[in-house]
This record gives sequence, structure tokens and C-alpha cells, in this order.
Amino acid sequence: MSKVRSTNTTPERRVRSIAHRSGLRFRLARRDLPGKPDFVLAKHRLAVFVHGCFWHRHPGCKRASTPGTRTEFWQAKFNANVERDARLIRALHELGWRSLVIWECEIRDSEFVRRRLQDAVHLSSPQPGQP
Ligand SMILES: [Zn+2]
Repeated sequence: MSKVRSTNTTPERRVRSIAHRSGLRFRLARRDLPGKPDFVLAKHRLAVFVHGCFWHRHPGCKRASTPGTRTEFWQAKFNANVERDARLIRALHELGWRSLVIWECEIRDSEFVRRRLQDAVHLSSPQPGQP
């Protein structure tokens, strides 16, 4: 492994490396897809997003706090982000892609992330008899 300048691994990289170690083949961001997913598992038509808890409003997460000042400003901003995320997931769905959101706070637990990825892969396999 080459030494990188920063020892701080980005959340996206960390999730990719977990996927890789789990034997999941992924491709980096497909810029033509809605929302530019952080990576895609093309074979499973699964788009993976690594979302920051604060900006994307992880439900029930303590990192998704609202600043005490200019509360309305922040709330409007957050609402717009959440609506945008929902819209992008719908757009992907219409193109036949499923989406998986990994939250930044979940990344510390690589076993948890691995399970989320694998569950999503299994769900995205064609299942006869299901709508
Ligand atoms: Zn969180």
C-alpha cells in the first residue's frame, strides 16, 4: 500500500475498502446517475451513498443536531437537503437502481457496514414473484 499524505481516511474510502474486502465489486462514482452516488455495485444495480449525519440529517443521530442560532435558516437548509436526497433516490429507483445510504457515524463499525452492504446486495438480486 502506498503511503498517502493524509492518514485520515475519508468515509467514502473506508466504505469502499470494506466493500472490497467483502468481495463486492464496485465502480467509482457514476457521474451520469442522479445524485452521483459515491460508488455503485453495477452488477446489483445498487447505488451507495455515504452521507454525513449533520448535513443529510441522520434520523435520531446525535451528530444531526441543529445549531442554536439562526435555527430557521438551518432548518430550511436541512429540509432542502433531505428533500433532495429523497428525490434522488426516487429518480434512481425509476432508472432501476436501488440505493443504500451508509451514515458517517456507522462507519466506525466495519462489520455493521459489511452487513448493510451484503444485505442490500441480496435484496437487489432479482427475486421471482416479487413486484
Ligand atoms: Zn449518524
